[in-house]
Amino acid sequence: MTDAPGAPDSSVRVRFCPSPTGSPHVGLARTALFNWAFARHNGGSFVFRIEDTDAARDSQESYETLLEVMRWLGFDWDEGPEVGGPHGPYRQSERYDIYRDVAQRLRESGRAYHCYCSAEELEARNQQARSEGRAPGYDGHCRSLSADQVGAYEAEGRRPVLRFRMPGRALTFTDLVRGEITFQPENVPDYVLVRANGHPLYTLVNPVDDALMEITHVLRGEDLLSSTPRQIALYDALAEVGVGRGRTPAFGHLPYVMGQGNKKLSKRDPESNLLGYRERGFLPEGLLNYLALLGWAIAEDRDIFSMQEMVDAFRLERVNPNPARFDLKKAEAVNASHLRALGVEDLTDRMLPYLQAAGVLGDPVPEPDRALLGRAAPLVHERMTTLAEAVAMLGFLFVGESAFSRDPADAAKLLDADGLAVVKAAHEALVALHHWDTAAIEQALRTALVEDLGLKPRNAFGPVRVAVTGRRVSPPLFESMELLGRERSLSRLRSAQQA
Ligand code: GLU
Ligand code: ZN
Repeated sequence: MTDAPGAPDSSVRVRFCPSPTGSPHVGLARTALFNWAFARHNGGSFVFRIEDTDAARDSQESYETLLEVMRWLGFDWDEGPEVGGPHGPYRQSERYDIYRDVAQRLRESGRAYHCYCSAEELEARNQQARSEGRAPGYDGHCRSLSADQVGAYEAEGRRPVLRFRMPGRALTFTDLVRGEITFQPENVPDYVLVRANGHPLYTLVNPVDDALMEITHVLRGEDLLSSTPRQIALYDALAEVGVGRGRTPAFGHLPYVMGQGNKKLSKRDPESNLLGYRERGFLPEGLLNYLALLGWAIAEDRDIFSMQEMVDAFRLERVNPNPARFDLKKAEAVNASHLRALGVEDLTDRMLPYLQAAGVLGDPVPEPDRALLGRAAPLVHERMTTLAEAVAMLGFLFVGESAFSRDPADAAKLLDADGLAVVKAAHEALVALHHWDTAAIEQALRTALVEDLGLKPRNAFGPVRVAVTGRRVSPPLFESMELLGRERSLSRLRSAQQA
């Protein structure tokens, strides 16, 4: 520990502990990012743990996708799956022996007790409480059963759950994001740690692992705030029974992320799906930069930064407790900024897999195609929002003439009788051209179409663009035709007239 506030503290140990259910979502990535940035800023440790104790919902596929997405985003972890570490295993499904042992110690110490109440009995007593204007929740019925009562329940064939005995006093902690928070005991009743079938719950395993893995700071979503008083009480009990080092972590709850219509962004909203961002060709650094803005700011009026800049500047004091708004347009704009900042070489490398996935380029890519892509990259660099747009923007350069097709709506609009007359004139002007480069192509077309036919540039070049690139929106026309080459450009001007 150091004294100066905000000075790096290499004893920091944070964890990212998702459950492998469904497809990884934006909220998870935001939590991972804030934890990771906090760990790296401090020179501390970022622990990655898999909370897979819900066999009905967890899946190996989700687990693998989670790891893949973490790697894609560029996170590195000091302990966790695939890298190991001194506190492993890091999948909770491999730690049941530990939980069984801790549960037993808690029971023997009296900090947890067997509860035999059935679901129906609990519900009936909750109803009763409500009708009398009391808060529902476990009423402590089994806190001090006599041996006879226990015997009678057992004889009935009841199997007990293990319930944690809350201390029965107000619990106060200082949230690193929202300041002091107090929970009154009537709002935090005794709760279940282990099911009747012996299965340990999140309520037990998450704090046990945080204690054993010596986690110093718990940074997680605001939706988990209500579990914090229970966990703080459980840490005390764990310390008593000798689990972990007896230090309760500090807690910070990251703000909610709001989606459309001012509703909480749900895992099921399409814009939550992390894989979707990769498919669309977001850069990991662009997406992370945007996610950083969901509750944090590097400075007033500054949106664009690198992950290194975030790490250097990241302080929990600047995390905003107010709900953040998820704005896809803004995410795209941030990504576009990162795209523009790439060197042409880098942009080319990053577009390549998207063109391959779409079947536009082969795998491995033939060298001439790669070179052509490198020359085409500057034409689209400024216009791209995501990498997958390269497919629509540049596909025309790579498809063979037999596979080349034009957007039907664009063709219908621009290749009508007037348009085809323009295409014919363009073909005639270009056939006569000796030197095939951007300047010569532009000169020839301006002379033939704008000067000689008296067309407005838009009306002159629109039909030529659809004929040659297949679309009304394309990279700059004359440059595109230079890259496409004389033969193929002329062939498309001819085939447009035959269609
Ligand atoms: N596995 C929990 C979740 O994904 C982690 C909660 C926590 O950070 O304590 O919601
Ligand atoms: Zn009970």
